Amino acid sequence: MRKITMLTDLLEANDVIAMENRKVFDRNRILALNLMSSPGAGKTTVLEKTIDKLGKRFHFAVIEGDVATSNDAKRLAKYKIPVVQITTETFGGACHLDANMVQRAMQKIDLSKVDILFIENIGNLICPAEFDLGEHKKVIVLSLTEGEDKPSKYPVVFRNSDLLLVNKMDLWSYLGINLNLLLRNTKKINPKLPIIKLSAKTEEGFKSWLEWLRKQYQKKSGS
Ligand code: MG
Ligand code: ZN
Repeated sequence: MRKITMLTDLLEANDVIAMENRKVFDRNRILALNLMSSPGAGKTTVLEKTIDKLGKRFHFAVIEGDVATSNDAKRLAKYKIPVVQITTETFGGACHLDANMVQRAMQKIDLSKVDILFIENIGNLICPAEFDLGEHKKVIVLSLTEGEDKPSKYPVVFRNSDLLLVNKMDLWSYLGINLNLLLRNTKKINPKLPIIKLSAKTEEGFKSWLEWLRKQYQKKSGS
């Protein structure tokens, strides 16, 4: 009984901080996106390509979540944008980011100079979906190498998200993955979820993703 109460309290406390974060983003006219995926699905590579393509048009910042190491933050630092690494090792090795960690990280960024903030969550398809960070949209990156049944196995993250990026499309011909089955499985869980197939390596499908991003930003900033 007590355990259940504690979990509810924890999520409620998280939601209060998430709401504060969202207010700060809105005040600064920032579009904040929460990027989720399994380990190795290519979130960081998608970010690298995105910043590379749109870096002249938007001021980006990244909050990078990992259990340990700052390898991904180092990869993004070459774009000369604000990157703050959160390693959850110091928070007991949590397998997800929460609103409190994001709030602390935000304080290290000059938010008045940011248009789009990416929050790269810990590679994990389970609990990241449960924690509101104050973002405006949740984006899942699913690599084609993960098979067709991920949406059926991890429904919550697919149900709660606003966009699915199916990454590593360049590997399709080698993998023998049934793409239609993957899309059908996704539709069963969340019929309204927009899906963009892309390859961060060959840039196939990237136009649609960048277009989605621009549209979200326009909606947010009214410009
Ligand atoms: Mg990464
Ligand atoms: Zn977790």
